[in-house]
Amino acid sequence: MHEEVLPGIHRIFDKFVNVYLVEGGDHLVAVDTGVDTTCGKILDAVEEIGKPLTAIVLTHGHLDHTGSLKCLKERTNAIVAAHVDEVELIKEKTGLEPDVKLKDGDVFEDFRVLHKPGHTMGSICLLDEKSKSLFVGDLVVERGGKLEEVPHQYSLDPEMNRIRIKELLEVDFENLLPAHGEPLLGNGKEKLRELVERLGL
Ligand SMILES: [Zn+2]
Ligand SMILES: [Zn+2]
Repeated sequence: MHEEVLPGIHRIFDKFVNVYLVEGGDHLVAVDTGVDTTCGKILDAVEEIGKPLTAIVLTHGHLDHTGSLKCLKERTNAIVAAHVDEVELIKEKTGLEPDVKLKDGDVFEDFRVLHKPGHTMGSICLLDEKSKSLFVGDLVVERGGKLEEVPHQYSLDPEMNRIRIKELLEVDFENLLPAHGEPLLGNGKEKLRELVERLGL
């Protein structure tokens, strides 16, 4: 099951993690791949939408984001993109090497790449400038209508991640699409500002 959360942006939820399928004209781009059980759900959604999945961007290498990478790659032969500093972790977790190694400021498909190390060294956020939508990976999570930090034990450097959270206030976006929790539509920036204030950053 998937839902279209914004025009051309579809969300697939599996267990505790979101995958997004973003329409780029005649094809689809996946943001992350979920856990190992998510592959079939993504392929079903791709079929329902009726456009081929030709690219996968990974926000980072953790297994709840890369769990279905191998399956999806085998089934669709989509191009896989990730930040250059995340390549080793992705290889370690999945045995696959990304085809495209991204750097801060790159444009991949319709996304601008924002390198935000902290949670992992090659964590990225993806900005869809047209719809003002920011895909944040695990920089922040949504819980009960509010944004929260990822529990510190899951982050390589939680203090560095806090700096990144604050930096996101400089990004021009309205919708915040987290990997964990509900998408914040329209009020993403406002909720982020509230978190920054709550953390005293
Ligand atoms: Zn993570
Ligand atoms: Zn995660």
